[in-house]
Amino acid sequence: MLKTYTYANLATEDIEKLVLRNSDPNLSIQSTVNEIIEEVRQQGDSALVQYAAKFDQVQLDQLYLEKDEIEELAMTISREQQRALEIAFQNIHKFHSVQTKRERVVETMPGVKCWREIRPIEKVGLYIPGGSAVLPSTLLMLGVPARIAGCKQIVVCSPPQKNGKINGFVAYCLLLLKIDRIYLVGGAQAVAAMAFGTSTIPKVDKIFGPGNQFVTKAKSTIQSLTNVSIDMPAGPSEVLVIADETANPAYVAADLLAQAEHGADSQAILVATSADIVDQVIKELASQIAVLPRQEIASMAIDNSYAVIVKDLREAMQFSNLYAPEHLILEIDSWQTITSLILNAGSVFLGHLTPESAGDYASGTNHTLPTSGYARSYSGVSVDSFVKKITFQSISEEGIQQIGSTVEILAELEGLHAHKNAVTIRKK
Ligand code: NAD
Repeated sequence: MLKTYTYANLATEDIEKLVLRNSDPNLSIQSTVNEIIEEVRQQGDSALVQYAAKFDQVQLDQLYLEKDEIEELAMTISREQQRALEIAFQNIHKFHSVQTKRERVVETMPGVKCWREIRPIEKVGLYIPGGSAVLPSTLLMLGVPARIAGCKQIVVCSPPQKNGKINGFVAYCLLLLKIDRIYLVGGAQAVAAMAFGTSTIPKVDKIFGPGNQFVTKAKSTIQSLTNVSIDMPAGPSEVLVIADETANPAYVAADLLAQAEHGADSQAILVATSADIVDQVIKELASQIAVLPRQEIASMAIDNSYAVIVKDLREAMQFSNLYAPEHLILEIDSWQTITSLILNAGSVFLGHLTPESAGDYASGTNHTLPTSGYARSYSGVSVDSFVKKITFQSISEEGIQQIGSTVEILAELEGLHAHKNAVTIRKK
């Protein structure tokens, strides 16, 4: 089931191919998404109703649910489930609330003071996936930092369920976040609606959230069509597990499957220091997958995944850095010795007792993370993603004398005399 390669036998081109996650080789997703975006831009709400019927098999009379209905749905879940969501909410809040530290004022020359101040992005759009699995955890992961940042308007879109509503877990998260409305729109059409605005759905300044390939492609496309920005390309999930002889094969298999059950296009990569470890993990995969309710999806994802045998942990990190995984798990005793070698990863899980599921739900870190190799240059979502940092400066009488001639010389050498004059006129 799990294809296996030996790192030493791989040529550079083989490695390049292995780490590539091109999920749209013939551009068919791009062309579907272009069509959906254009439809929503031209037809607005009526396109959204049509797409709900086509993709979600629901006939919608109204494109949103409001407070009363959200409260009613939230009460359909058990107290134990509500409590679990509350604990996750609190931990995510605790972890993210330290991310708002103010920076100090810097006096670069006597009388020349510069500093940055944080301001929230006013209107944000949160996409909560809801196709193959509804992810209330994603609502907490996006809603909590948006609230901490102080965003004025939080627009939430999620695909309608078969009964034309949302599930009780998402509803309870909306209550925890004090969000009074949710739009029943999924896929590329939700992204387009938040980017252009429709009669019902407000246009936002920035769109957040993971999703399937249609959602991710729509997010990257609307950036070039509008002035709306996005958090990052957060597409089909992936994990890379590094295991040595100290690893428990059952834990490793469980972590690979936790990723694989997300979707057929998810990837679960094992990097092991011996062929024996790979064999043991493959045996565990077979027995654990047999009892999974989402067995079919997980099997397809495992078929799309592979194992790499390396000679030691240094070589393991070399491959991991080339792959740049969204999630990296170090199922080894000596993780302290190699964390400094990690260059590219979205979120890292250390040691045998730290499953990725903890970070997915409740330890406090954010689970909206860069996929498809974007961990080379993007960070996961945090409070920073919901704010702008504006620079300020103030120059005193002493300051203009101190910095004046430097600016005059530089303006002159660039041939910008009005720039020079704006200083000279003040120095006199
Ligand atoms: P989704 O909400 O992303 O997508 C469902 C929507 O896709 C549907 O409502 C429909 O509008 C649209 N759609 C479905 N088939 C279509 C088609 N043929 N043409 C056009 N549009 C179509 O839910 P999902 O499908 O369950 O995907 C969730 C994804 O989010 C998974 O791939 C998961 O791995 C990923 N995820 C990523 C992260 C991260 O941080 N990177 C976190 C959580 C989840």
